[in-house]
Amino acid sequence: MPNDPSIYRQRRERAAGECAAAGVAALLVTPGSDLVYLSGYRMHASERLTCLVLDADGGATLVLPALEELRARAAAPDLELVTWEETEDPYRRATERVRTRGAIGLADQMWAAFALRLQPLLPGRDFRPASSVLRRLRMRKDESEIASLRAVGEQADRAFARIRERPFARRAERDIGAELADALREAGHEAVAFTIVASGPNGASPHHETGARAIAGAEPVVLDFGGTFEGYCSDITRTVHVGATVDPEVRRVHDIVRRAQEAGYAAARAGVPAESVDAASRKVIDDAGYGRAFVHRTGHGIGLDGHEHPYLVSGNREPLEEGMAFSIEPGIYLQGRFGVRIEDIAYIAPDGRAEPLNRADHALAIVG
Ligand code: ZN
Ligand code: ZN
Repeated sequence: MPNDPSIYRQRRERAAGECAAAGVAALLVTPGSDLVYLSGYRMHASERLTCLVLDADGGATLVLPALEELRARAAAPDLELVTWEETEDPYRRATERVRTRGAIGLADQMWAAFALRLQPLLPGRDFRPASSVLRRLRMRKDESEIASLRAVGEQADRAFARIRERPFARRAERDIGAELADALREAGHEAVAFTIVASGPNGASPHHETGARAIAGAEPVVLDFGGTFEGYCSDITRTVHVGATVDPEVRRVHDIVRRAQEAGYAAARAGVPAESVDAASRKVIDDAGYGRAFVHRTGHGIGLDGHEHPYLVSGNREPLEEGMAFSIEPGIYLQGRFGVRIEDIAYIAPDGRAEPLNRADHALAIVG
């Protein structure tokens, strides 16, 4: 996450411009990724109201508990701060900063408990999700964001390089998950968000809950893991195989998924609809006869949130643009048997092509 306040000031100016164009009087932004995007202030959500009021005229005020003033001043030195004491009502403090007429955008991640207190203080207004204004800005990453995504992706690659050297056979999935978390932190991650270790038949569940199952001596294992660096998310999947004796169908399915992933890369470029990446990956799997076993969309945007716009899914005709970052992650899931998924993060580079932000080998890695 960049420390340069001018980056956040520019983002707020662009957001205010989008508000004015959309007839939105102000954005009310409580802790979450929108607040980090617009201010650099990272704060966990709690029952005490913290709320950035970004007015369409460009004014920006952070209303926050007095006890958090020092922290906020350090994180966002150029923001106007309005503090409230424990015995005061903070909601009025926030809403009286709205100076312009028009609709109000509420942060998508705002707690209902806050929204339900703020709305009655702004009678007669339309309310809409802040994403109606911020979506386009957040989808197109600036240089500092791409630099963070590149760094966090390289760290995830290094974590994979380390885990593939470790023994898998006869160990519990959760032991491998704990080692993956250590490897991510040692590679530079500030936080680990998830480590999916899905062995044998568990691989058929895309979001398997890593557990106590002992990994067998000859079976595939899906490893899907990620976390954050500078506030930006990593998300990578590789499917490895324990032992060199690989069932021919496992090898065939892995090869189909690898080709589907390459087809996704080839289709992803500036100007094409997001759904065409999904269609390209899906066609390879359909043509190979496994279409019904590819049970999810091909990808999701990524940035400050692990899943964000754009979604690479049938029906999303939104064109890909320079700076968009997203996963390409086809998979095949065979109930009761095994699963295979390969996932990289890619972004649309200035030349209009999809450039990988993960470079770990796609071949079926043999582990011990
Ligand atoms: Zn993933
Ligand atoms: Zn993903």
